[in-house]
Amino acid sequence: MPNFVTPITLKIFSTKNEITDYFNRKPVKVIGFVPTMGALHKGHLGLIELAKQQSTQVVCSIFVNPTQFNDPKDLEKYPRPITDDIRRLEEVNCDILFNPQVTEMYADNEKWHFDMGDLEYLLEGKFRPGHYQGVTQVVNKLFNIVKPDIAFFGQKDYQQFMVISKMVEVLEMPVKLVMCPIEREPDGLAMSSRNIHLTPYDREHSLILSKALNWVKENFDINKIDTLQQQAAQMISNEPGVELEYFEIVDGKTLHHAAPASETIVALVAARVGKTRLIDNVLIG
Ligand code: AMP
Repeated sequence: MPNFVTPITLKIFSTKNEITDYFNRKPVKVIGFVPTMGALHKGHLGLIELAKQQSTQVVCSIFVNPTQFNDPKDLEKYPRPITDDIRRLEEVNCDILFNPQVTEMYADNEKWHFDMGDLEYLLEGKFRPGHYQGVTQVVNKLFNIVKPDIAFFGQKDYQQFMVISKMVEVLEMPVKLVMCPIEREPDGLAMSSRNIHLTPYDREHSLILSKALNWVKENFDINKIDTLQQQAAQMISNEPGVELEYFEIVDGKTLHHAAPASETIVALVAARVGKTRLIDNVLIG
Protein backbone atom coordinates (compact mmCIF):
# COMPACT_ATOMS: atom_id res chain seq x y z
CA MET A 1 0.00 0.00 0.00
CA PRO A 2 1.42 3.42 -0.85
CA ASN A 3 1.95 5.52 2.25
CA PHE A 4 0.23 8.81 1.60
CA VAL A 5 -1.64 11.29 3.76
CA THR A 6 -5.09 12.25 2.54
CA PRO A 7 -5.12 16.03 2.17
CA ILE A 8 -7.70 17.80 4.29
CA THR A 9 -10.21 20.06 2.53
CA LEU A 10 -10.12 23.46 4.16
CA LYS A 11 -13.60 24.46 5.32
CA ILE A 12 -14.22 28.18 5.02
CA PHE A 13 -16.81 29.82 7.26
CA SER A 14 -17.70 33.48 7.38
CA THR A 15 -20.50 33.49 9.96
CA LYS A 16 -20.70 32.62 13.65
CA ASN A 17 -23.63 30.28 13.00
CA GLU A 18 -21.66 28.20 10.52
CA ILE A 19 -18.93 27.53 13.07
CA THR A 20 -21.40 26.80 15.87
CA ASP A 21 -23.46 24.46 13.66
CA TYR A 22 -20.35 22.68 12.44
CA PHE A 23 -19.05 21.86 15.92
CA ASN A 24 -22.57 21.02 17.18
CA ARG A 25 -22.94 18.48 14.40
CA LYS A 26 -19.40 17.18 14.73
CA PRO A 27 -18.01 17.62 18.24
CA VAL A 28 -14.22 17.26 18.34
CA LYS A 29 -12.01 16.39 21.27
CA VAL A 30 -9.53 19.27 21.12
CA ILE A 31 -10.20 22.45 19.14
CA GLY A 32 -6.96 24.33 18.47
CA PHE A 33 -7.28 27.98 17.48
CA VAL A 34 -4.89 30.40 15.77
CA PRO A 35 -6.29 33.95 15.51
CA THR A 36 -4.61 36.10 12.86
CA MET A 37 -5.15 39.18 10.72
CA GLY A 38 -4.00 37.33 7.60
CA ALA A 39 -1.20 38.05 5.13
CA LEU A 40 0.07 34.77 6.43
CA HIS A 41 3.79 34.11 6.67
CA LYS A 42 5.94 31.41 8.23
CA GLY A 43 5.35 32.82 11.72
CA HIS A 44 1.60 32.21 11.40
CA LEU A 45 2.13 28.84 9.72
CA GLY A 46 4.41 27.76 12.58
CA LEU A 47 1.53 28.43 14.99
CA ILE A 48 -0.80 26.36 12.83
CA GLU A 49 1.71 23.51 12.63
CA LEU A 50 2.09 23.48 16.42
CA ALA A 51 -1.69 23.64 16.77
CA LYS A 52 -2.00 20.63 14.43
CA GLN A 53 0.27 18.63 16.74
CA GLN A 54 -1.73 19.45 19.86
CA SER A 55 -5.34 19.50 18.59
CA THR A 56 -7.91 17.30 16.85
CA GLN A 57 -9.01 20.14 14.54
CA VAL A 58 -7.42 23.52 13.93
CA VAL A 59 -9.35 26.72 13.28
CA CYS A 60 -7.45 29.72 11.92
CA SER A 61 -9.24 33.05 11.86
CA ILE A 62 -8.39 35.85 9.49
CA PHE A 63 -9.95 39.10 10.57
CA VAL A 64 -8.41 42.54 10.29
CA ASN A 65 -9.90 43.89 13.48
CA PRO A 66 -10.68 47.62 13.12
CA THR A 67 -10.99 48.26 16.86
CA GLN A 68 -7.33 47.51 17.54
CA PHE A 69 -6.02 50.05 15.01
CA ASN A 70 -5.44 53.50 16.41
CA ASP A 71 -4.17 54.76 13.05
CA PRO A 72 -6.82 54.68 10.27
CA LYS A 73 -4.09 54.72 7.58
CA ASP A 74 -2.49 51.62 9.09
CA LEU A 75 -5.88 49.85 8.95
CA GLU A 76 -6.51 50.96 5.39
CA LYS A 77 -3.17 49.75 4.07
CA TYR A 78 -3.09 46.49 6.05
CA PRO A 79 -2.45 43.72 3.46
CA ARG A 80 -5.38 41.39 2.69
CA PRO A 81 -4.17 38.71 0.23
CA ILE A 82 -6.98 36.25 1.00
CA THR A 83 -6.43 33.97 -2.02
CA ASP A 84 -2.78 33.40 -1.11
CA ASP A 85 -3.74 32.93 2.53
CA ILE A 86 -6.25 30.20 1.64
CA ARG A 87 -3.59 28.41 -0.42
CA ARG A 88 -1.13 28.58 2.48
CA LEU A 89 -3.71 27.24 4.92
CA GLU A 90 -4.40 24.35 2.53
CA GLU A 91 -0.68 23.62 2.28
CA VAL A 92 -0.38 23.21 6.07
CA ASN A 93 -3.60 21.16 6.24
CA CYS A 94 -5.49 23.63 8.39
CA ASP A 95 -9.03 22.31 9.00
CA ILE A 96 -11.12 25.46 9.20
CA LEU A 97 -10.75 29.09 8.21
CA PHE A 98 -13.03 31.60 9.92
CA ASN A 99 -13.06 34.74 7.80
CA PRO A 100 -15.87 37.05 8.92
CA GLN A 101 -16.81 40.52 7.73
CA VAL A 102 -16.68 43.40 10.21
CA THR A 103 -20.51 43.47 10.38
CA GLU A 104 -20.54 39.84 11.47
CA MET A 105 -18.29 40.64 14.40
CA TYR A 106 -19.54 44.05 15.54
CA ALA A 107 -22.83 45.75 16.12
CA ASP A 108 -22.87 49.53 15.65
CA ASN A 109 -21.24 51.54 18.44
CA GLU A 110 -20.36 48.53 20.49
CA LYS A 111 -18.58 49.54 23.66
CA TRP A 112 -16.02 47.42 25.46
CA HIS A 113 -13.80 48.01 28.39
CA PHE A 114 -11.69 45.39 30.05
CA ASP A 115 -9.65 46.32 33.10
CA MET A 116 -6.22 44.91 32.46
CA GLY A 117 -4.48 47.20 34.92
CA ASP A 118 -1.31 48.93 33.81
CA LEU A 119 -0.66 46.38 31.04
CA GLU A 120 -2.83 48.67 28.94
CA TYR A 121 -0.58 51.67 29.41
CA LEU A 122 2.93 50.20 29.35
CA LEU A 123 5.17 49.78 26.29
CA GLU A 124 2.85 49.22 23.28
CA GLY A 125 -0.06 50.64 25.27
CA LYS A 126 1.73 53.95 25.66
CA PHE A 127 2.27 54.30 21.92
CA ARG A 128 -1.00 52.72 20.74
CA PRO A 129 -3.75 54.00 23.05
CA GLY A 130 -6.80 51.73 22.99
CA HIS A 131 -4.98 48.99 21.08
CA TYR A 132 -5.30 46.32 23.77
CA GLN A 133 -8.95 47.13 24.39
CA GLY A 134 -9.48 46.30 20.70
CA VAL A 135 -7.39 43.14 21.00
CA THR A 136 -9.21 41.84 24.07
CA GLN A 137 -12.56 42.73 22.52
CA VAL A 138 -11.95 40.72 19.36
CA VAL A 139 -10.19 37.80 21.03
CA ASN A 140 -13.02 37.57 23.56
CA LYS A 141 -15.55 37.43 20.70
CA LEU A 142 -13.48 34.91 18.74
CA PHE A 143 -13.05 32.66 21.80
CA ASN A 144 -16.83 32.75 22.36
CA ILE A 145 -17.47 31.79 18.74
CA VAL A 146 -14.78 29.15 18.21
CA LYS A 147 -14.73 27.84 21.82
CA PRO A 148 -11.17 26.57 21.54
CA ASP A 149 -9.56 24.22 24.03
CA ILE A 150 -6.12 25.61 23.18
CA ALA A 151 -5.23 28.91 21.52
CA PHE A 152 -1.84 29.63 20.02
CA PHE A 153 -0.19 33.05 19.97
CA GLY A 154 3.26 34.28 18.96
CA GLN A 155 5.96 35.55 21.29
CA LYS A 156 6.38 38.24 18.62
CA ASP A 157 3.48 40.07 20.31
CA TYR A 158 4.74 39.39 23.82
CA GLN A 159 2.65 42.01 25.58
CA GLN A 160 -0.44 40.86 23.69
CA PHE A 161 0.09 37.38 25.14
CA MET A 162 0.24 38.86 28.65
CA VAL A 163 -2.94 40.85 28.03
CA ILE A 164 -4.84 37.84 26.70
CA SER A 165 -3.58 35.68 29.59
CA LYS A 166 -4.94 38.29 31.98
CA MET A 167 -8.32 38.32 30.21
CA VAL A 168 -8.56 34.52 30.28
CA GLU A 169 -7.68 34.48 33.97
CA VAL A 170 -10.06 37.26 35.01
CA LEU A 171 -13.01 36.01 32.92
CA GLU A 172 -12.20 32.38 33.83
CA MET A 173 -12.31 31.32 30.20
CA PRO A 174 -11.80 27.57 29.72
CA VAL A 175 -8.93 27.81 27.24
CA LYS A 176 -5.26 26.97 27.49
CA LEU A 177 -2.88 29.50 25.94
CA VAL A 178 0.34 28.49 24.22
CA MET A 179 3.10 30.92 23.25
CA CYS A 180 5.13 30.02 20.15
CA PRO A 181 8.66 31.28 19.40
CA ILE A 182 9.36 34.12 16.96
CA GLU A 183 9.93 33.07 13.36
CA ARG A 184 12.65 35.15 11.71
CA GLU A 185 14.06 35.78 8.24
CA PRO A 186 17.52 34.23 7.81
CA ASP A 187 19.15 37.61 8.54
CA GLY A 188 17.25 38.03 11.83
CA LEU A 189 14.29 40.29 10.95
CA ALA A 190 11.19 39.06 12.78
CA MET A 191 8.56 38.01 10.24
CA SER A 192 5.57 40.33 10.11
CA SER A 193 2.71 41.01 7.72
CA ARG A 194 3.86 44.63 7.74
CA ASN A 195 7.33 43.79 6.38
CA ILE A 196 6.00 44.04 2.81
CA HIS A 197 5.77 47.80 3.33
CA LEU A 198 9.54 48.09 3.91
CA THR A 199 11.48 49.58 1.02
CA PRO A 200 14.86 47.92 0.24
CA TYR A 201 16.48 50.76 2.20
CA ASP A 202 14.16 50.22 5.19
CA ARG A 203 14.65 46.48 4.99
CA GLU A 204 18.42 46.87 5.30
CA HIS A 205 18.19 49.22 8.28
CA SER A 206 15.42 47.25 9.99
CA LEU A 207 18.04 44.67 10.99
CA ILE A 208 19.25 46.95 13.76
CA LEU A 209 16.26 45.86 15.89
CA SER A 210 17.18 42.17 16.09
CA LYS A 211 20.89 43.09 16.28
CA ALA A 212 20.32 45.33 19.31
CA LEU A 213 18.16 42.68 21.01
CA ASN A 214 20.79 39.98 20.44
CA TRP A 215 23.53 42.30 21.63
CA VAL A 216 21.63 42.83 24.90
CA LYS A 217 21.08 39.09 25.30
CA GLU A 218 24.74 38.33 24.70
CA ASN A 219 25.97 41.04 27.07
CA PHE A 220 23.28 40.65 29.68
CA ASP A 221 24.17 41.42 33.28
CA ILE A 222 21.35 42.10 35.73
CA ASN A 223 23.36 44.87 37.42
CA LYS A 224 23.84 46.76 34.19
CA ILE A 225 20.29 46.82 32.85
CA ASP A 226 20.06 50.59 32.61
CA THR A 227 23.35 50.86 30.74
CA LEU A 228 22.45 48.04 28.36
CA GLN A 229 19.06 49.58 27.71
CA GLN A 230 20.57 52.99 27.01
CA GLN A 231 23.26 51.60 24.74
CA ALA A 232 20.81 49.46 22.76
CA ALA A 233 18.48 52.46 22.41
CA GLN A 234 21.39 54.57 21.21
CA MET A 235 22.43 51.90 18.70
CA ILE A 236 18.93 51.96 17.21
CA SER A 237 18.60 55.74 17.29
CA ASN A 238 21.91 56.04 15.40
CA GLU A 239 20.62 53.86 12.57
CA PRO A 240 19.60 55.88 9.48
CA GLY A 241 15.89 55.78 8.67
CA VAL A 242 14.94 54.29 12.04
CA GLU A 243 12.97 56.16 14.69
CA LEU A 244 12.98 54.43 18.07
CA GLU A 245 9.77 54.39 20.13
CA TYR A 246 10.99 52.30 23.05
CA PHE A 247 13.63 49.79 24.03
CA GLU A 248 13.01 48.29 27.45
CA ILE A 249 14.38 45.40 29.46
CA VAL A 250 11.60 44.26 31.77
CA ASP A 251 10.34 41.52 34.04
CA GLY A 252 8.60 38.99 31.77
CA LYS A 253 5.54 38.76 34.05
CA THR A 254 4.89 42.33 35.16
CA LEU A 255 6.50 44.20 32.23
CA HIS A 256 7.98 46.54 34.83
CA HIS A 257 11.68 47.17 35.20
CA ALA A 258 13.54 43.85 35.53
CA ALA A 259 15.04 43.03 38.92
CA PRO A 260 17.42 40.35 40.23
CA ALA A 261 14.38 38.39 41.47
CA SER A 262 12.73 38.35 38.00
CA GLU A 263 12.21 34.76 36.82
CA THR A 264 11.94 35.83 33.20
CA ILE A 265 13.46 38.89 31.63
CA VAL A 266 12.49 40.16 28.23
CA ALA A 267 13.89 42.96 26.09
CA LEU A 268 11.29 44.61 23.87
CA VAL A 269 11.61 47.15 21.12
CA ALA A 270 9.33 49.19 18.87
CA ALA A 271 10.52 51.50 16.12
CA ARG A 272 9.39 53.14 12.94
CA VAL A 273 11.48 52.05 10.01
CA GLY A 274 10.61 54.43 7.21
CA LYS A 275 6.81 54.49 7.33
CA THR A 276 6.48 51.04 8.89
CA ARG A 277 6.14 50.38 12.58
CA LEU A 278 7.95 47.23 13.72
CA ILE A 279 8.11 45.44 17.06
CA ASP A 280 10.39 42.67 18.24
CA ASN A 281 11.64 41.13 21.48
CA VAL A 282 13.97 38.54 22.95
CA LEU A 283 13.70 36.41 26.06
CA ILE A 284 16.83 36.78 28.09
CA GLY A 285 16.46 34.35 30.96
P1 AMP B 1 -1.17 38.97 13.37
O1 AMP B 1 -1.72 38.40 12.11
O2 AMP B 1 -0.01 39.88 13.16
O3 AMP B 1 -2.23 39.51 14.28
O4 AMP B 1 -0.55 37.73 14.15
C1 AMP B 1 -1.31 36.58 14.44
C2 AMP B 1 -0.52 35.72 15.39
O5 AMP B 1 0.71 35.34 14.78
C3 AMP B 1 -0.16 36.43 16.70
O6 AMP B 1 -0.29 35.52 17.77
C4 AMP B 1 1.28 36.84 16.47
O7 AMP B 1 2.01 36.98 17.66
C5 AMP B 1 1.78 35.66 15.65
N1 AMP B 1 2.97 36.03 14.89
C6 AMP B 1 3.11 37.11 14.08
N2 AMP B 1 4.37 37.16 13.59
C7 AMP B 1 5.03 36.10 14.11
C8 AMP B 1 6.37 35.61 14.01
N3 AMP B 1 7.28 36.22 13.26
N4 AMP B 1 6.69 34.48 14.69
C9 AMP B 1 5.76 33.86 15.46
N5 AMP B 1 4.49 34.27 15.60
C10 AMP B 1 4.13 35.37 14.95
